[in-house]
Amino acid sequence: PFYHQAKFLTSAAKVEQSPPDTGAEVAFAGRSNAGKSSAINALCQQKSLARTSKTPGRTQLLNFFTLDEEHRLVDLPGYGYAKVAEKIKLQWQAELAAYLEQRKSLRGVILLADVRHPLKEFDLQMLEWSNSIQLPVHILLTKADKLKRGAAAKSLLQVKKALKEMNGIHSAQLFSALKRQGIDQAHQVLDRWLDL
Ligand code: GDP
Repeated sequence: PFYHQAKFLTSAAKVEQSPPDTGAEVAFAGRSNAGKSSAINALCQQKSLARTSKTPGRTQLLNFFTLDEEHRLVDLPGYGYAKVAEKIKLQWQAELAAYLEQRKSLRGVILLADVRHPLKEFDLQMLEWSNSIQLPVHILLTKADKLKRGAAAKSLLQVKKALKEMNGIHSAQLFSALKRQGIDQAHQVLDRWLDL
């Protein structure tokens, strides 16, 4: 009822270029091709909102979307773990870590991971960073429509078990932008984090 108001605000290549650190925001992260753009678009009921993040020149560290004056969504396009130069990757990792650590308005991270192969190196890194600063991560296991129901449920169970072994603050659910599965559940997490 609220997320459809999302509008592109600005991009930042460095944490210092972010909009004022007031109110509350939730960040979206994921390896490239995890289904992040599709998920953001589905959650905001828009066709091409997150495409802005893929426009050359806007493929920066952080893309900010406003919901209203006090609430934002942030797309972390980064470079996934695509084959970019090691130096760029390290710079990006350092900036991302700085954002996660310094941003006071950041309430949690929605981590997108393909239900068929979750918890890759990138995902584990995000979980570890977030763990170390007590920032909650909610995993959307994307493209759930690609698996039969039982196989999807099994993947979710495995992920939940792994999260439990890390600590108690992370959570996970199944999601399909294509079938519009899991949207209400994801909205509930966003509502809670954003104090809506
Ligand atoms: P991003 O790189 O993480 O932003 O990923 P995209 O949202 O661009 O999606 C990557 C690919 O996965 C595209 O070909 C999408 O059509 C496909 N995809 C995304 N979400 C779903 C889904 O829920 N179901 C299916 N079957 N395919 C999806």
